Amino acid sequence: MTQLNNTLDEIKFLYSELFPICRSLTGDGNTKSLKILKNVTDFKVIKYKSGQQCYDWKIPLVWRIKDAYIKSDNKRVIDFKANNLHVVNYSHPIKKKISFNSLKKKLHYIENFPKAIPYRTSYYEKDWGFCISYNDFLKLDKKSEFDVLIDSKFEDGYMHCGEFLKRGSSKKEFIFSSYFCHPSMANDNLSGMIAWILLLKYIKELKTKFSYRFIIIPETIGSIAYLFNNEKKLSDTLGGFVLTCMSGPGRTGYKKTFLENHKLDDICINVLKNEFKNLKIYPFDVFGSDERQYSSPHFRIPISTITKDKYFDYEYYHTSLDNLNFAKPENLHKIFNSYLKVIENIEKTDSSEFVIKKNKLKKNTFKSVYKCEPMLSKRKLYPKLGGANFQKKTSNSKSLSKPIMWTLFFC
Ligand code: ZN
Repeated sequence: MTQLNNTLDEIKFLYSELFPICRSLTGDGNTKSLKILKNVTDFKVIKYKSGQQCYDWKIPLVWRIKDAYIKSDNKRVIDFKANNLHVVNYSHPIKKKISFNSLKKKLHYIENFPKAIPYRTSYYEKDWGFCISYNDFLKLDKKSEFDVLIDSKFEDGYMHCGEFLKRGSSKKEFIFSSYFCHPSMANDNLSGMIAWILLLKYIKELKTKFSYRFIIIPETIGSIAYLFNNEKKLSDTLGGFVLTCMSGPGRTGYKKTFLENHKLDDICINVLKNEFKNLKIYPFDVFGSDERQYSSPHFRIPISTITKDKYFDYEYYHTSLDNLNFAKPENLHKIFNSYLKVIENIEKTDSSEFVIKKNKLKKNTFKSVYKCEPMLSKRKLYPKLGGANFQKKTSNSKSLSKPIMWTLFFC
């Protein structure tokens, strides 16, 4: 790996190495992925113990999966080994014979996208299930009995994350954060993971004015755990980025910080407008990624994101069609270069320009109660099944969670 010195070659190599791995919140796929990233350039692996309370959340048990299938007439008709999206991520073990009608209740498919296997998770609800293409669903013999197996287990252990602090001449710092909990999907979020490690490698070699903190975690629980364990260290943070969804064929996008007119917004929009016609600018939204935690009332770190085919906005989002035919290394390379220009501009800017003016910061009245988002799922205020997207109807709990999240975010 270290012999590769061309960024585009490195991107291609990392796509091929990392794409097949089954990742989750925890487990062997996650440690293996961190190892591959560490081969590019070293960083510190941090471990949070299962069961540790982090604000309103708990570090989950380690999920290990060996195999899973649906068999009919002793033949695998759905096989986890052929595509790891076939199993609802974090599924509990199951081994039984089952009728078509009972099996049907545990299957997830998208009628509008008959070739796509959806990506679904059940992190915070004890459940199991399979995700299949609608075409495969139609092929299942309705009169048959099926053997189903999910050979998974849950163990006490650790949730792994990664971090590196590149020290500049100033203590004032910026965050680059990405998440590595998604299994085989290329744009969301293999593109973010790859950009994360290559930006780290790049910044390590620079002499910088600002410090740069690199954080790689499983989404949501990972950033919450990191903030809980590093609360005081982040008081010098001026802003940052969540690296995600940056290698699709579609429009380049920019998601603004929660302030919407922070210096980072100016810098990013200027850089991107020069490079891409047709830039799509998104207002801040609590539904997104880890910016929701970093920018939450107690922390209030302005976080932005540069995308090329942003999550929610492309039809292959959270499906098996978000693969290496859709996401291209060349696209990621372009956005990577934009990030380099953004860093160059940050370095040229005086730190005072990034400081949030007091009157812009709405004080949080819930400060003593909540830091980061409260866990809505344990209060039955969030959908039980994760990963569902616009291809499916919005469930009641999701529509309910939106105003709650906004209220908690801005009050
Ligand atoms: Zn996602």
